[in-house]
Amino acid sequence: MLKLNNIGQCVTYNSYLGKMDVQKDIEIIIENDLIIEIGKDLKSTDNIIDCNQMLVTPGFVDPHTHPVFWDTRVKEFELRLQGRSYEDIALSGGGINSSVADLRNADESDLIFRLKNRMDRFLHLGTTTVECKSGYGLNTESELKSLKVINKVNSMHSIDMVPTFMGAHAIPIEYKNNHNGYVDLLVNEMIPKVAEQGIAIFNDVFCEKGYFDLKQTQKILLAGKKYGLIPRLHADEFQNSNSAKIAGELKAITADHLMMVSNEGIKALSENRVIATLLPGTTFFLGKKDYAPYRELKDAGVDIALATDFNPGSCTIQSMPFIISLACLYLKMNILDAIKASTYISSKSLMLEERIGSLEQGKKADIIIWDIDKVEKIPYLINYHPIKNILKNGVSVFTS
Ligand SMILES: [Zn+2]
Repeated sequence: MLKLNNIGQCVTYNSYLGKMDVQKDIEIIIENDLIIEIGKDLKSTDNIIDCNQMLVTPGFVDPHTHPVFWDTRVKEFELRLQGRSYEDIALSGGGINSSVADLRNADESDLIFRLKNRMDRFLHLGTTTVECKSGYGLNTESELKSLKVINKVNSMHSIDMVPTFMGAHAIPIEYKNNHNGYVDLLVNEMIPKVAEQGIAIFNDVFCEKGYFDLKQTQKILLAGKKYGLIPRLHADEFQNSNSAKIAGELKAITADHLMMVSNEGIKALSENRVIATLLPGTTFFLGKKDYAPYRELKDAGVDIALATDFNPGSCTIQSMPFIISLACLYLKMNILDAIKASTYISSKSLMLEERIGSLEQGKKADIIIWDIDKVEKIPYLINYHPIKNILKNGVSVFTS
């Protein structure tokens, strides 16, 4: 048994109270991978970690990343600095499709090596569970390869990876004049094969002009549902495509981005209890000004999660603490809501809230012991994340 004592501030969602809770001078007892007790003046144990009156929070849960790619797209970054837009670069052959050829050619073991390094960095930034999408293969063989790579790294890494199939990330070049042909391939071949492979839990679609329209999105997500893949959605990112409405109709677990969501879309999310996953890092990294309408979503009673959207094109940020800073500054979230969105609600968007996302009895001991005394310092320090110790499943996986 392990005890964390001398905790200064413990900040976590509390399911009993149904809200965020800030407690002082409490202790946590861990047995194997679970928190078995949390409270004051607990029994003594053989192993003790002295938290030195510092802050303790749950490990971060990042519910939206695209980490299986071969290389950076730094050239596109330079083009954007010269004034070209992401949409424009994608139309002239860059964007998602420029990552596809490399991934198709890549050796599985090289991809595993690269993904493992990216997971090391996520973990060292305090992320203990991360959703990982495929979506740079865009044919059956390479999508299955990407999911296999996720599964392989997950089996050898301390971080927990939650696999999502995203064959509907873009239309591959060979189908550029036959979009419906690619949708048929997704529905008739890729989704059944992905289900048979048995790795992916979710099925995600980029519903946006130039990618997949409403009808195609519906078809792909319904086909996934038939095979047990739960729908998530990239919705209303660059334009209002009414995709939040579709997310509601199809009872997707989450609709992500939502920079351009309409009032009608917000209503559909609220009525169907779809989580809104907001990705302020993408707006920031693309140098745009339109952040998602957090206040309207919150006022409508929609649950809000935060994620990095880590990918080589539109957001290279891996740090959830930095995303929290952006959420406070640009979405105008209050700090406790931003922590809740990065831990409890994000675990809910992965359907894992019974096991992770808060520090409570019976939950996994995924815990960050910070080298700061107050939760307000997480966003305040912006690009400096002083973490003393990270526990994953009750085991120390990072110390500084
Ligand atoms: Zn994305």
